Amino acid sequence: MKIAMIGTGYVGLVSGVCFAEFGFQVTCVDKNPAIIERLQAGEVTIFEPGLDDLLDRNAKDGRLVFTTDLATTVADADVIFIAVGTPSRRGDGEADLQYIHAAADEIAAAMKPDAVIVIKSTVVVGTNADVRARIAKARPGVAFSMVSNPEFLREGSAVEDFLRPDRVVVGVHDEAGAIAMRRVYRPLYLRETPMIVTTLENAEIIKYAANAFLAMKVTFINEVADLCEKAGGNVQDVARAIGMDNRIGSKFLHAGPGFGGSCFPKDTRAYAATGRKLDAPQTLIEQVVSINEQRKRSMAERVIEAAQKHGVKSVAVLGIAFKPNTDDIRESPALDIIPLLQKAGLTVRAHDPEARTAAEQVLSGVNWCKSAYEAVEGAGITLLLTEWNVYRALDLKRVASLMDGNILFDLRNVYSGQDLDGTGLEYHSVGRPLIG
Ligand code: NAD
Repeated sequence: MKIAMIGTGYVGLVSGVCFAEFGFQVTCVDKNPAIIERLQAGEVTIFEPGLDDLLDRNAKDGRLVFTTDLATTVADADVIFIAVGTPSRRGDGEADLQYIHAAADEIAAAMKPDAVIVIKSTVVVGTNADVRARIAKARPGVAFSMVSNPEFLREGSAVEDFLRPDRVVVGVHDEAGAIAMRRVYRPLYLRETPMIVTTLENAEIIKYAANAFLAMKVTFINEVADLCEKAGGNVQDVARAIGMDNRIGSKFLHAGPGFGGSCFPKDTRAYAATGRKLDAPQTLIEQVVSINEQRKRSMAERVIEAAQKHGVKSVAVLGIAFKPNTDDIRESPALDIIPLLQKAGLTVRAHDPEARTAAEQVLSGVNWCKSAYEAVEGAGITLLLTEWNVYRALDLKRVASLMDGNILFDLRNVYSGQDLDGTGLEYHSVGRPLIG
């Protein structure tokens, strides 16, 4: 079976590499020649633990190739995955489907009869049916199957997630599509990974409802953190105890500066927009979207207030990526918070182990540093924004001695009271008592 993977971003590249690891012949296509050139040279274009070894091995074994030539690749493929971006449309928050439509049109022009076309990108309900009609119109009389196969991998553990998913969701409109997907995912199937075979529409809704629920959980615990701060509680103790209830579960109950990343913000906006469009208002998720936006601003305000109170001029920011183990900065809280600090007249020194290159392109006026210790030098406030491992065990006495002030904002609740002993730092965290 020959697989074509259209789009080699975080999802397409990981999926393509993992399908090659399953033993299939995979051709990854991207319209960005710079990405393809680097991949052809054996360079991994995203930071994702474990990806480089798998890519290297499968490329050397000849099961994995990279090209910009979509037409030739598709003409020879049995299963064609679409893994292009579906960003937010400016203004209304709806998912922008232009890249899906462009890829579908190119596929329609080149595909062979009986091809199976699979949308792996996150697309709003109705998209698979629309794309199916679009392709049928472009190639009347040519049989093909349409499949919705949303992806649930998380950046930072994408390879592991792809190879060991909780479940695989497959939406189909015919049996041929279901059969093809069972073959493609057979290696997982053998490990007893459940495969949900359902309708195109259900598969689309499942993906959005899952992300909306997780985003809601994060937003919920963030509001509990606010309450804890006012009432003298500790959100970590509360989260731990409620998470032990199996009906609630312990995941996604970490209070912080608001969710970011390439999925939750855009997917909650798109989900809410779909609800408005279909006259089925998703008011809970509308609230999640606005609470989360406000949260990033209020985190910046906390820091600015402390800076004004203590006459601080310089802030050291540790972590730009929206979470550890990725170089992805899309909609990261840091991108909202840093410009607000600068607008308030503060200078920003920053460090991130992997995301600096991406961050330099969108943040201006930041003094980039090679290490956390270099970043905190001369800073009045240190602001920990991403819980990278390198920030989890900082020598806080050294941090305090390098700083020109003594305020540590830990918006990921990485440290605890005893870590602060003897440091002289004034420690602000989220939903926990102030120390110092
Ligand atoms: P991305 O922006 O990292 O990659 C998309 C790639 O597609 C880009 O390299 C772009 O050049 C390429 N592309 C666009 N149009 C093309 C075309 N016509 N032909 C060939 N290549 C084309 O995006 P991503 O983060 O991988 O996300 C892809 C989809 O998967 C989105 O719908 C996203 O919501 C979904 N998703 C993402 C994640 C994640 O963690 N990133 C997880 C689950 C689902």
